[in-house]
Amino acid sequence: MLVDAHCHIDLCKSSAQEVVSGEVIIITNGVDLKSNKKVLSYAKIFPNVRAALGLYPTHAIDASVEDLVEVIKFIEQNKKKIVAIGEVGIDFYHITDAKEMKKEVAAFKKMITLANKINKPLIVHSRKATDAALDVLKTAKVPVIMHCFDGNELQTHEAMKRGYYFTIPANFWTRKGFKKTARRVPIDRLLTETDSPYLSPIEGENRSENVRYAIEKLAELKDMTYRKVEDQIYQNFMKIFNK
Ligand SMILES: [Zn+2]
Repeated sequence: MLVDAHCHIDLCKSSAQEVVSGEVIIITNGVDLKSNKKVLSYAKIFPNVRAALGLYPTHAIDASVEDLVEVIKFIEQNKKKIVAIGEVGIDFYHITDAKEMKKEVAAFKKMITLANKINKPLIVHSRKATDAALDVLKTAKVPVIMHCFDGNELQTHEAMKRGYYFTIPANFWTRKGFKKTARRVPIDRLLTETDSPYLSPIEGENRSENVRYAIEKLAELKDMTYRKVEDQIYQNFMKIFNK
């Protein structure tokens, strides 16, 4: 069974049916309140789809205090229907204003507190913000999954020391940072993802079954068989999310 541990079915132009087709177990991630509601509906319709609810870092900038309270309340109310909190995190690539950066970090802290409270793993976006993200994550008492991680060697080792997992995108070998993460992290700490509709390894919109490209390339990189990589990643997935 293939694993797509991070995608956005609700943001795809293709039909949800097309995106989720294939022998693949999927976590679709919410980015704001409206998106979180859609995520729950997909998890209800498709037996191979699991829900993660969150607040995307750049959306946290636009959120009022009331919005943030509402997102948190919605996640808490639906905690039994979800396998993780995500997508949450910090983005200093798109957000460069000091005041907004502070707001982003504050929202992320709230999400970590919520994850600890309802005991759900965190699926974390950190872009050009690895040190800040790792610092805030010290308070996390739940499994942490770093999505599209592009930290340096030191940061990767710090995250590994803390027991974090890393999701490797379907096009990882085309990006230096992702490739380095795939090489540095042992296979028992890796998951695969598409971040669909983004980061497609082939022509056209990304879809969940494209994680097989990541498995192929990981097999080469780790000198393992395709089947062995697929099985190990599925086992990692079950260990974290099948609680
Ligand atoms: Zn994403």
